[in-house]
Amino acid sequence: MPRSLISLADARAAVLDTVSSPLDAEEVALTSALGRVLAEEVVAPHDLPPFDNSAMDGFAVVAGPPGNLEVVGESRAGRPAKQAVGRGQAIRISTGAAVPDGADAIVPVERVAETDGSVTVPDTAPGANLRRAGEDVRAGETVLSAGAELGPAELGVLASLGRASISVRTRPRVALIVTGDELVGPGRRLGPGQIHDSNAVALAAQAMRAGAVVVSSKRVADDLMATIEALESALRGSDLVCVAGGVSVGPHDHVKAALAELDVRQRFWGIAIKPGKPTWFGAADGTLVIGLPGNPVSAMVIFHLLARPALRALAGADPPAARTTAILESTVRRNRAREQALRCRLREAGDGWHVEPAEAQGSHILTSMLGAGALALIPPGEGEVAAGERVEIELVPGGTLSG
Ligand code: AMP
Ligand code: MG
Repeated sequence: MPRSLISLADARAAVLDTVSSPLDAEEVALTSALGRVLAEEVVAPHDLPPFDNSAMDGFAVVAGPPGNLEVVGESRAGRPAKQAVGRGQAIRISTGAAVPDGADAIVPVERVAETDGSVTVPDTAPGANLRRAGEDVRAGETVLSAGAELGPAELGVLASLGRASISVRTRPRVALIVTGDELVGPGRRLGPGQIHDSNAVALAAQAMRAGAVVVSSKRVADDLMATIEALESALRGSDLVCVAGGVSVGPHDHVKAALAELDVRQRFWGIAIKPGKPTWFGAADGTLVIGLPGNPVSAMVIFHLLARPALRALAGADPPAARTTAILESTVRRNRAREQALRCRLREAGDGWHVEPAEAQGSHILTSMLGAGALALIPPGEGEVAAGERVEIELVPGGTLSG
């Protein structure tokens, strides 16, 4: 291993520093824009609501004292009344229907007594039960800014402004390579000394969850030439290459040599983090390359801590924050030299968020990731962090909130 390890914060800064500008924009239909990142500023073309309308089923009237009013017409949702309302008159109105000319209040149907062709109404204040045009959004107002991630609410707002398509960043393209002579694809029988390849599946899922497309996924043997070939083709046509395993210093680890052969410039190798120390990072011609440790937990943790932010930056998204604090439920020993990223269950208690570190934190204990809604980040140091203390956490996207 390298003599000097860099901190997670510096590693993340170095990765984000290599993303000089976000990817190109493309226009997509709103119906397929979920999770995409906005590439334009969205300015409202019209007021929302577009016209004054009724908040209740009832009668549109001229506000005033109690009285008996003649019902002279109806305004339904989507079918405004043709006539105006004058004093002594009322127009039957539905929720969401346009307020007729002359009316300045709505009397809810529950508050009137209806007889043949007329209604008796109580005292009514101007503006009662009216929803004014532009109350939600004014024409010309900026509603969403570039960098916003389009979730259900954003898509709903865009639709309400009449947008059928929207400019978003192209999805970052991820090429995956997993290395190891011991790896066998899921679905195949294991021979002596073999294990099933879990990294390819887990990392692809993380990449997709980060909004990327996985353009290729290859499993290569611990062989320098095979590694060079796989990396060479992965570098073509991707924005980020994630290569897992073989990045350390064993006699059968060929990733670093292969990357050097391909002139991928190393930015750092070795992070003061547990798990995930033997992480490599570099770039060539605008393509980022992250060499992830092969241990499945390390690979997933480092993907979350470094690859995901890189993918979000490539997509032009607002920086991934989602850092907060939570109360630690069990005492943990600090590591003298390395920050720790502990897989934790996350739960809500009366005094806020709590995190319960998984009992087994070994980097090969992949089930410690099950239900891990958060990583608790424990700075290096002496002694321990006691149960009940508040620690920094990072939420894992799609992670579960335990009961
Ligand atoms: P390496 O980083 O290549 O030294 O691998 C470290 C550990 O992770 C070894 O125990 C490997 O067998 C394991 N490992 C490497 N790649 C994978 C993978 N794709 N799926 C599951 N385990 C892996
Ligand atoms: Mg290996």
